[in-house]
Amino acid sequence: MPKAITDLRIDEVDKLVTSLNEPSFRAKQLLAWVYQKPAISFDEMTDLPAPFRRKLAEQVKLHTLTPVHEVRAKDGTVKVLFSLADGKTVESALMKYSAVGDKHRYTVCLSTQVGCPIGCPFCATGQQGFERNLTSGEIIDQVLYFARQLKDMSNGREGEWISNLVFMGMGEPLANYDALWQAIEILNSPEGFGLSARSMTISSTGLLPQIKMLSKEKLQVGLAISLHASDNALRDKLVPINKKYPLEELLPACSDYFARTGRRVSFEYVLFDGINDSLAQAQLLAELIHGLNCHVNLISANKTTEQTFRPSPRNKILSFQQELKNRGVNCTFRQSRGQDIDAGCGQLRSRFASDKNRQPKR
Ligand code: SAH
Ligand code: SF4
Repeated sequence: MPKAITDLRIDEVDKLVTSLNEPSFRAKQLLAWVYQKPAISFDEMTDLPAPFRRKLAEQVKLHTLTPVHEVRAKDGTVKVLFSLADGKTVESALMKYSAVGDKHRYTVCLSTQVGCPIGCPFCATGQQGFERNLTSGEIIDQVLYFARQLKDMSNGREGEWISNLVFMGMGEPLANYDALWQAIEILNSPEGFGLSARSMTISSTGLLPQIKMLSKEKLQVGLAISLHASDNALRDKLVPINKKYPLEELLPACSDYFARTGRRVSFEYVLFDGINDSLAQAQLLAELIHGLNCHVNLISANKTTEQTFRPSPRNKILSFQQELKNRGVNCTFRQSRGQDIDAGCGQLRSRFASDKNRQPKR
């Protein structure tokens, strides 16, 4: 099967064009069609000679994803289940935010793996096991899919644009470092998608060697750590990789990330009723991150089939937040987007898999 063009680095696209005996300015034209328009077929690329387009189509695919199911939430969030070339599926979401006037900006939530090797017990993806890493092209194509949709929606008008990317879909992004980083470089490159690294955030459970690598990269992306507990005994259960990279090593790595990149780390803390939402746990959390330049995002849990992990009631979340604020912690409470459409990590995929009667939409 030919590779996808989005699996190629920018310099590899240059080489491909040269190998097809075309002048190098054609590479720029081709990249603009792939990343900036973005085109849905080689036929659309009308300023490229037809024989060149034919040869290209023999060598590479233009995209890797087929949408098989789509749901829209009341808040404007769109969630799409994609089928990959090998029939495996991943999901991505497009979240809509108000901007100036009638224009909107959007954040795309991206998957990096099929399933996830970390196995957090409250997470629908974690319960599906790990199947494989996505290629960089499969990561990038999630962004391009939504970019095309926005282009169609805005009908030539300026203004509907993707302003942020969050690697918070299925999978542990840092466990697929090479493909993730190649995708980030292309999405950032002015010849690629052209989005600033500052507008990208990786969410991770805290793989320490990779966090160190990340802190040394030239592009400085945001880092969100899925904390969910402030003592090792509980975090070992909620986020099992904690047994390998415990809190006393994770916290200094976050402080080092800030020292090297100047980017404040944020901590994600999903509140589960009776598990990690007591005032004593809020106090412990404040002590744990004391002195660290960071931000805490409190998140209400999405319901999953796992009965043990019920969402905390709203009043408990607000008390937890107040306790943190009283102790000088920078924190916000984020209502999950797309609650009415199972927009949580891996939920659409698991619901789809369990609903045998529903046929994929093609
Ligand atoms: N694997 C990475 C990134 C993807 S998960 C990570 O865990 O950080 C993105 C976020 O969704 C994580 O903070 C994760 O803990 C959270 N999440 C998973 N299941 C959830 C649920 N049932 N309710 C609310 N958040 C959930
Ligand atoms: Fe994997 Fe993140 Fe889900 Fe944990 S929460 S199982 S790390 S996707």
